[in-house]
Amino acid sequence: MNHGPGEVIPLKAANDVRDQLRRPVRDLRLSVIETCNFRCPYCMPEDAFPFGATEGSAFRLTFDQLETVVRAFVRLGVSKLRLTGGEPLLRKGLPDFIRRLTAINGIEDMALTTNASLLARQARALHKAGLHRLTVSLDSLDPKRFAALSGGRGRLADVLAGIEAAEDAGFERIKFNCVVQRGVNEVDVLPLVERFRGSGHVLRFIEFMDVGTCNGWSRERVVPSGDLLKRIAQHWPLRSLQPNYRGEVASRYAFEDGQGEIGFISSVSAPFCGDCQRARVSADGQLFTCLFASAGHDLRGLIDAGEDVLADALAAIWRQRSDRYSERRAEAGEAEHVEMFRIGG
Ligand code: SAM
Ligand code: SF4
Ligand code: SF4
Repeated sequence: MNHGPGEVIPLKAANDVRDQLRRPVRDLRLSVIETCNFRCPYCMPEDAFPFGATEGSAFRLTFDQLETVVRAFVRLGVSKLRLTGGEPLLRKGLPDFIRRLTAINGIEDMALTTNASLLARQARALHKAGLHRLTVSLDSLDPKRFAALSGGRGRLADVLAGIEAAEDAGFERIKFNCVVQRGVNEVDVLPLVERFRGSGHVLRFIEFMDVGTCNGWSRERVVPSGDLLKRIAQHWPLRSLQPNYRGEVASRYAFEDGQGEIGFISSVSAPFCGDCQRARVSADGQLFTCLFASAGHDLRGLIDAGEDVLADALAAIWRQRSDRYSERRAEAGEAEHVEMFRIGG
C-alpha cells in the first residue's frame, strides 16, 4: 500500500512504535549523498578520506528509494525530516526530490543541513521546492581559520554569499551550527554571537563529539556548553527558554535585551539519550539507530520489497532499539563508530 498525497495515515499505526526505552521515532535524518566537497578535520579528515575515494554513487539510493524510506518512516510516526549528507547540495536534482517529499502527508517539518558553499546557486530553487528550513554549518568568521576548519577546501566568502542568497530567497530563522574545539576556534565564539544576535537567525554551539574513527577526539578538546554559556552571558545576559518540543536536542537561551536566542547542543557534557527520537539513514540505505552505532541495518532489499514490508521491518528494528551511547560514554570503551559524513549529524 502506498500512502499518496492527502491520504490519512491511521493514527494508531503511526504512534504505536516504541523502542526498549519507550522512545517513539519522530525524526528522520536522511543522507542523500555520502561525499563532500569539504574535508573538515573533525568529520572527514582528508588523510583518511582522500578526494575520489569516498564516492559510492553505485550504491547510492535513488530518489524513488529514498522516498519509499521516508513514506515508511512516516507510517511509524516520523513527522520531522532533515536532509543531510555528506554535502547534500552536491546531489543533482535535489529541489525536485524535495518537491516530491512535500507531497507526503505527515511530514510537518522538512529541513536541510549544509555547509552552504554551493547555496548561493541553489537557495532559490530549494525555497521554491518547499523546503521549510535551513541549517548552515559555520565554525568561524575568520577566512583563514574557516579555510583550515574545512580542510583547506572551503572559502568563507562562498558561504556568506550562500547565506545572503538564502535570506533573499525567503528562508527565515536559519540555524547556524558551530562546532567548538578547545584551542582551535574558541576565539570565534563571541564574534559569531555578535554577528547573529538580532539577525532573526539562531546560532547553536555544538560540543565536539567522538563520532567516527579518525577525528582525533579527546575530552580535553571539548569545550563544555556551560563554559561557553558563562562566557557569552558576561557580554550579553541570557535567560533559559523552554524546549520548543519534546526531544529537542539544543537547550535554548534568550538574550535578555530581546535580540533573539542561541542554543547549545551538549551531547558530551549533558547527554539527552532519554528523549532521543531520531533515526538516521545513510545514502546507501543503512539505518543507524544511534549517531554512535558501529553498524547499520541494511535496508536495500526491504526498500525494494515495498513500503509495507519496509515499514514492518523498521518497526521491528525500532522496537529492539536500546541505544544510549552518550549517557554511557565513560564506560563505552573503544568501539568503532559510523563516520559522521555518512549519516549527517
Ligand atoms: N555537510 C553538511 C554540513 O556540514 O552542514 C551536512 C553534514 S555534517 C556531517 C552535519 C553536521 O555535523 C555539521 O553541522 C557538522 O559541523 C557536524 N559535525 C561533524 N563532525 C562533528 C563532530 N565531530 N562533532 C560535532 N559535530 C560534528
Ligand atoms: Fe563535509 Fe559537513 Fe563533514 Fe564538513 S561537516 S566534512 S562539510 S559533511
Ligand atoms: Fe540518541 Fe545515540 Fe545520541 Fe543518545 S547517543 S542522543 S541514543 S543518537
